[in-house]
Amino acid sequence: MRTLDDLGDIDGKRVFVRVDFNVPIRDGEITDDTRIRAALPTLEELRAKGARLLLAAHLGRPKDREPEFSLAPVAARLGELLGVEVKLGEDAEGDVVMLENVRYEPGETKNDPELARRWASLADAYVDDAFGAAHRAHASTVGVAELMERRAAGRLLQREVETLEGILADPARPLVAVVGGAKVTDKIGVLEAFLERADAILVGGAMCFPFFAAQGHSVGSSLCEEEGIAPAKRILAEAGDKLVLPRDLAIGDRFADDAQRDDIPGIDVPDGWMGLDIGPRTAQDYEDRIAQAGTVFWNGPMGAFELQGFVRGTRTVAEAVAQASGTTVVGGGDSAAALAQFGLADDVTHLSTGGGAALELLEGKPLPGVEALR
Ligand code: ADP
Ligand code: MG
Repeated sequence: MRTLDDLGDIDGKRVFVRVDFNVPIRDGEITDDTRIRAALPTLEELRAKGARLLLAAHLGRPKDREPEFSLAPVAARLGELLGVEVKLGEDAEGDVVMLENVRYEPGETKNDPELARRWASLADAYVDDAFGAAHRAHASTVGVAELMERRAAGRLLQREVETLEGILADPARPLVAVVGGAKVTDKIGVLEAFLERADAILVGGAMCFPFFAAQGHSVGSSLCEEEGIAPAKRILAEAGDKLVLPRDLAIGDRFADDAQRDDIPGIDVPDGWMGLDIGPRTAQDYEDRIAQAGTVFWNGPMGAFELQGFVRGTRTVAEAVAQASGTTVVGGGDSAAALAQFGLADDVTHLSTGGGAALELLEGKPLPGVEALR
């Protein structure tokens, strides 16, 4: 993969930079600018080398050119962070120009060659720092890159790819994967990839219920994906004792902050109850295994951590990951949100900015946006 070191002399050149500025916006205000800050090293390095920037980013999923999906607040915030005016629009002039939301263009998600040619004609070089969009073959991630002789990964994308490929290629052992979240079907590929490579896979979240259902346990009214049961059965058959499932659970009578709550010593969920977190013995076991790991990859919360009564398992795992002496890598939007909620986001080796892209890379799938930078 080419990096900024391979880009050559860019003094006075216009560089098209695909960034991930898909930030949460409420009433026109950015509520979390982490993604904008994450691109600063690349943008500042390019500017220090004399480049003029043409930034491209998507925001949400506009159907038309709805004003609530405009990048105007993002351009303003970036301007404050860079200390330079960021002008918005394809025809704007200036040292730092940002295109409007690339998804205002119907050709973006179709990787339309016409659109890619138009954008490529505006710049002398291409840099992709949007790891979170690298698993999509869109005009701004692949189309433009393929038309540019000079193209490279930005520092953020470079770090993401190198870290995640490092986990696959040569991890310090034991390699422990902690996989939770809502749906097993989202994460089958990753479970299978780790079955081949990891020393242990610790399962939490609602994801454990298809496994329990496959084993014949009662799951009560737990979130248990029907289509997940067959794959869970298959994974159980090949996993042996590498796959570690919860031994006890916290249950609630409904998915609510004021739910009635109980800890049960086993995993059979009574009728009328749902499993909403891993239990204390499981949390302790996972904590110990994480502490002893050479490498930890964590994706997906251990329970419904948004609910006051069911945050314990996720907090225990997050703290264990933060304190672990091994290399720790966390991926996934909700896992990242949990870490941030506990004030631990800076205590891991690498917090991935791209949930879907990180999972696909770990599954061993080539990412189109990364392949285009070879
Ligand atoms: P990530 O974004 O980190 O990949 P996911 O999106 O897969 O994570 O899963 C996060 C969601 O899973 C959270 O909204 C959480 O409430 C939900 N979840 C986890 N455990 C349970 C459970 N036992 N019952 C219901 N929802 C759960
Ligand atoms: Mg999520």
